[in-house]
Amino acid sequence: MNLEAFILGCGGMMPLPHRHLTSVLLRREGDLFLFDAGEGTQVALRRLNLRWKKINAIFISHTHADHVTGLPGLLMLSSQVDRDEPLYIYGPPRIAEYVETSRRVLDMYINYEIIVKEIQAPAICYEGDGFRVRAFPLRHTKTCYGYAFEEDPRPGAFHPERAVERGVPRGPLWSRLQAGETVEGSGGSVVRPEDVMGAARTGRKFSFVTDSLYFPEIAPEVKGSDLFVCEGMFERELLPSAVEKKHMAAFQAATIARDAGEVKKLALIHYSPRYAEQELRVLLDEAKAVFPETVLSKDRMRFSIDYVD
Ligand SMILES: [Zn+2]
Ligand SMILES: [Zn+2]
Repeated sequence: MNLEAFILGCGGMMPLPHRHLTSVLLRREGDLFLFDAGEGTQVALRRLNLRWKKINAIFISHTHADHVTGLPGLLMLSSQVDRDEPLYIYGPPRIAEYVETSRRVLDMYINYEIIVKEIQAPAICYEGDGFRVRAFPLRHTKTCYGYAFEEDPRPGAFHPERAVERGVPRGPLWSRLQAGETVEGSGGSVVRPEDVMGAARTGRKFSFVTDSLYFPEIAPEVKGSDLFVCEGMFERELLPSAVEKKHMAAFQAATIARDAGEVKKLALIHYSPRYAEQELRVLLDEAKAVFPETVLSKDRMRFSIDYVD
């Protein structure tokens, strides 16, 4: 099952001619999940040229303009495709009021059901077939959540030679063992799944953190992420200003990735508009000094999130 993340925009505060505002689209087979929707997100989505049909759910970190002003346009765009299922929107308090007011004042044409759920406390907010999305608190100038998309653990690898050794020939019995059932081997011996399967393997994990002060408790939330997308708004020299505005410097995102454990890749995002493209290098260098597996996310970048085993 394919899992991939597309960077729709990597900018913070304001869109620039070649840098849309922070938004990430996660695609798991036919299902689409959007994290934040700043101004112009529908343009960014179209530029990706995905043959997309519908977004299942949208997760909003907080109600600052650079993370939500793209929402009305996106909701209208979604009326262009037929859909039977509702669109779910999750976010902090007042997200329902924002969506409702936009719909009312703008007389938006919407031909499908929108269900807005405000997150009152950190919890699993969305559950799908084999995965869930969990919201956890960040520390910003208003209520803000980070999100972790986590797949269920997978069964361990099946070892055919062990099955044969125990007198279970290739065939339907193998499927039953793989499905977790105990079967009978030759001579009536009992063969359990654990006799022929390795240890359970972890599912894949994607996490999304912006906007926030650095604090060490973010690390356990993103532990084991195959892809950790995190705000890296400023260089180290501007740390006092970052702290004052409750934002993070790039090296702090790297510190979280390093301390969390088992993070495969960090993608920085939500850059300050003060940095031109070629100046983002300083953010990357400072982050890589702490966590080498860091990349600068760029608009329209695609990350394939693969099973490690
Ligand atoms: Zn922001
Ligand atoms: Zn903000």
